[in-house]
Formats: sequence, structure tokens, C-alpha cells
Amino acid sequence: MDAALKTLADALGEERGTLEKLKATVSELDARLERERASLATTERARGDCHAEVRTMTQQIDHSREKLNRSRTERESNAAQRELEELRKLLKDREDDVQKLSFEAEATRKQVETTEAELAKVKADLAACEDDIQKKMVDLEKDHSATGVGRDALVKGLPPALYRRYEMIRQKRGFAVATTTDGTCKACNMSLAPQMFHKLRREPTIDQCPTCNRIIYYTPPVAKDAPPKDAG
Ligand SMILES: [Zn+2]
Repeated sequence: MDAALKTLADALGEERGTLEKLKATVSELDARLERERASLATTERARGDCHAEVRTMTQQIDHSREKLNRSRTERESNAAQRELEELRKLLKDREDDVQKLSFEAEATRKQVETTEAELAKVKADLAACEDDIQKKMVDLEKDHSATGVGRDALVKGLPPALYRRYEMIRQKRGFAVATTTDGTCKACNMSLAPQMFHKLRREPTIDQCPTCNRIIYYTPPVAKDAPPKDAG
């Protein structure tokens, strides 16, 4: 029964772990999506600013071109020409920036879409198995408490000294009961004294393995095709 309780508790832990892992992935992806969206917004804002500068510069260039057309002396004409060239260079730089930021925004937008798809998939996985896992956990908990109740009833029927010994060994060794069929302890594989083994075989009695201290009793060998004997 204690082995069954441990198995049930392990199974419960595993189901809980699966659920928690999926939930952790969802919140991780949520956080990543938030970061990526923020980064996209920043890039798009920078791109908008650059775009506005391009518009302003284009107006300045028009203005400068008019100045060039209106110039009357060579000096005025040269100055306007220089200004125009300078502005064109600046405009080219800004246009390059706009293009760079456009590429960057496009890449980030694709990343956002990828993360959104990933998140949607994990959320769908979670939705698909959450009910199932919850149901399984309810069943496991029911089994666990039923087994616990059965164990309590069994403990009441045991001599208190024996139960105390059992609990002490169980705490030290993980499980407290061993069997023997051929004179070796099946828990630790060490030989029992022949005298002890004969006694265990002859009488319905229990003893303690001298090596691992587990409570030990005799079980007869089981024929291959016979149903396994209940080890208690
Ligand atoms: Zn032993």
C-alpha cells in the first residue's frame, strides 16, 4: 500500500509538472511577445521620425532650388549650388535610414508573427490537455486518499510495536518489507542464516533481514503460468 501511495503521488507530481511546464511556456512566450511588440513600436516610431525629416528636407531642397534659379551672381549661384548638394547628401542619408528601419521593422514584425503562432499553439496544447490532466489528477487524488484510508484501517489492526518498527525501517530504507523464497532477502540480495530461513519456511511468521533490517517473510516459489501471489 505504501508503494501504491508512492506511485500515485509520483503520478500526481508528474501530471502537475506537465501542466506547470505548459503554463510556464505560455507566460514565457507572452513576455517575449511583449518585448518584441515594444521593439517593433520603437522601430516604427524611429522610422516615422526619419520619414518626417525626409519630407522637411525635400521641401528645403525645393526651396534651395528656387534660390538657385533666382540667383543673379555667380557667387549667389555657387552658394545655392553648395547648399543644394549638402541637402541632397543629407536627404540620401535619411532615405537610407528609412530603408534600414523599414527592413528592421519588417524582420521584427515577422518575429512577432512567429511568436504569436508559437504562443497560439502552446495555448491550444494547454487547452487540449488541461481538462484531461485535471480529471486525471482528481482520479489520482481520489485513489490516493482511498488508499490512505485503507492503510489507516490496516494500521489499526497491527500491533503498535510492529507498526513503529515498520515505519522506522521505511523511513531509513524507503520500503520496509521484504520476502524470501530461496534463502536470500529479495530486497538486499543477501543470504539469511539457514536456521532463520527454515523457521520462516516452516511457520507463518515474520523476522527481520540481518543485513537490511527489513521485515521479512517467506513466499513460496511461483510457477511461471500461475497467477502471481499477492505479496501483501
Ligand atoms: Zn535484506
